[in-house]
Amino acid sequence: MVKETKYYDLLEASPDASDADLKKAYRKKALRLHPDKGGDPELFKEVTHAYEVLSDPQKRSVYDARGEAGLSESGGMGGMDPQDLFSQLFGGGGFFGGGGRPQGPRKTKDLVHRVTVSLEDLYKGKVSKLALTRNVICVKCSGRGGKEGAVRSCDRCNGRGIRIMMRQMGPMIQQIQQACDECQGTGEIINNKDRCGTCKGKKVISEKKMLEVHIDKGMKGGQTITFRGESDQAPDVTPGDVIIVIEEKPHDRFKRQDTNLLTKVEIDLLTALAGGNFAIKHLDDRALIVKVHPGEVLQHNALKVIPGEGMPSQRHHEPGDMFVRVGVKFPESLPLESIPLLEAALPPRKPLDKFPKNVMLEEAEAVDADARQHEMADAGETMDEDEEGEGEPRVQCANQ
Ligand SMILES: [Zn+2]
Ligand SMILES: [Zn+2]
Repeated sequence: MVKETKYYDLLEASPDASDADLKKAYRKKALRLHPDKGGDPELFKEVTHAYEVLSDPQKRSVYDARGEAGLSESGGMGGMDPQDLFSQLFGGGGFFGGGGRPQGPRKTKDLVHRVTVSLEDLYKGKVSKLALTRNVICVKCSGRGGKEGAVRSCDRCNGRGIRIMMRQMGPMIQQIQQACDECQGTGEIINNKDRCGTCKGKKVISEKKMLEVHIDKGMKGGQTITFRGESDQAPDVTPGDVIIVIEEKPHDRFKRQDTNLLTKVEIDLLTALAGGNFAIKHLDDRALIVKVHPGEVLQHNALKVIPGEGMPSQRHHEPGDMFVRVGVKFPESLPLESIPLLEAALPPRKPLDKFPKNVMLEEAEAVDADARQHEMADAGETMDEDEEGEGEPRVQCANQ
């Protein structure tokens, strides 16, 4: 648990917020509080400082463990100009993922792992276990690599682990850096007999660890979950983080647009005209039964909305809506005897267009288009329909 929540409160974020959440929270607050927009400059500074600390994994872990007092003790206050941070963030520069600023103790590399998550799991939330292999400090020798006093600096390279070699290349002398062969580039020599038997003098051993990855309801692709300090350990170096990047697996029936879900269903002509039900299997263990009211008449390509059946938002789990594009499947053929019934039920046929006397009326036969003709027509039609449905959710129905 965190020691104090002041910085999180300033950002209106929860202490377990992901980096992406914090960034979003800061963006929202900073936009509102920015002095150029008439905000309170003092508050803007405080919020920016809070974000500066929490966006830095190292400072955040110090703050989580020891609060503000811990930060001032470790002296790493730095103090970035809030305007600078603001413009860096809003200029879209490489503030994030750029490997951080070269300050503070050295860290081992962050381990980035992508996890593909189904839409079902993002809807319901899930805890997945992730097996991770990483280096940890050898317990047997406490990371020394051998018995106490057995480790000495390599004479050959003066403990630097590299040697400069001169090589004659024709008329030129070339300098090359090479890993020292005496110490294999480690800069240290441990006699065979004193070498730690567990790590063979490597100081670290490979260890398998299970991480519990909490996929929160409503998470999105691209979001990250950070396990601070869970990357490789090495002597005298701070371990880096394990960063889990969520990737959303495409779904075969639903498209996600933020918290809305888009889907399409196909209903038969009788249901469209005379009412009935259709079912939509949801992402959890439910199926929604939607009633088409008799007399309503559902048009082909009609867009229906089922409120509250979209994805939950991550913060408050407020659901978005489900958009349903309804396709109407016409029957392949019709028994002749049902035609009078249809004629009685449906509005009368649209009368034939009237033409001036000089237009000759000629009978023509239409045949079904073959596959190639379909393709040609589709290509022409999609070009015309490009602008259709701008800004509204697009669910394309298969052409009948
Ligand atoms: Zn060891
Ligand atoms: Zn050496």
